[in-house]
Amino acid sequence: MTAGRAPWRRMALAALGTAAALALPSGARAADAYPAKPITMVVPFAAGGPTDVVARTLAAAMSKNLGQSVVVENRLGAGGTVSAAYVAKAAPDGYTILIHHNGMATAPALYSKLPYKPLTDFSFVGQVADVPMTLLGRHDLPPRTLPELVAYIRQNQGKLNLANAGLGAVSQLCGMLFQKAIGVDLTAIPYQGTAPALTALLGGQVDILCDQTTQTLPHIKADKVKLYGVTTTQRIKALPNTPTLSEGGLKGFEVKVWHGVYAPRGTPPAVIDRLNAAMRAGLKDPAVAARLAELGAEIVPEDKQTPEGLRTWLQSEIEKWSPIIKAAGVQAD
Ligand code: ASP
Repeated sequence: MTAGRAPWRRMALAALGTAAALALPSGARAADAYPAKPITMVVPFAAGGPTDVVARTLAAAMSKNLGQSVVVENRLGAGGTVSAAYVAKAAPDGYTILIHHNGMATAPALYSKLPYKPLTDFSFVGQVADVPMTLLGRHDLPPRTLPELVAYIRQNQGKLNLANAGLGAVSQLCGMLFQKAIGVDLTAIPYQGTAPALTALLGGQVDILCDQTTQTLPHIKADKVKLYGVTTTQRIKALPNTPTLSEGGLKGFEVKVWHGVYAPRGTPPAVIDRLNAAMRAGLKDPAVAARLAELGAEIVPEDKQTPEGLRTWLQSEIEKWSPIIKAAGVQAD
């Protein structure tokens, strides 16, 4: 007899379950089924460049964990701000996310009419990895060391140019600090990412470029460019014999590139948790760690891989860079 009533009980329970699900806010139901379709990861710079490499490595690892493709979409322009503005206005459903670097912190000081607020228009997923930069010259640029480069630039004022990925790019930030440190202005040539900027350097169309190791290491190792130093305060494992710019005479010079993953403000907390879990699982994958290490990148400690770790870091970076940029007098509309 008891067994005979069981199907009715099951049906009653199922009906209760349906009623409970219907009573849930639609965000919570959506979060339950998340992700039900591919996710777009927006990358602010050109395909094949350093930010793109980190993005694609992470996206592939997150796809595995989420059971859905994470598709990289490069939305170029205005030093990364086109992408950030796009994601800030996207539906907060977890299907459009952004990977960005220091540009998220420098843009408020660089752009007087920035169409988003980095600290309040996004939900934070977590920090990913830090990457050193390298100061490079075209292969046939005569100077061989940083002191020689500085002397050469001083003797050839007005003749040399520096490529970057636009106002808001780390190549621009590094170039700005370099020019300030040596007290000479170079002509800036902006590209939509440092992939095309490096192509121009390799082709001898531009003279100097500061760029992440995630793109530059293979070209340095193949002796296709002149290397003048690394931008971190310590030498890096991937280039143990290369002095830092600080050692080369630019005392205290430091730019380290960090990456964070963001979603539009209002993304349900359960979706953020799912994205964060996938991101952290990806960073634990030995193949991902090996790939990033091979490119000179360093996965951040676990406390930074959290939404709060990214938010507090972004805030500290905005506070660090805003006065420096304002003092340098660099600004666009
Ligand atoms: N390295 C670039 C920058 O200067 C961006 C990129 O192309 O990844 O910000």
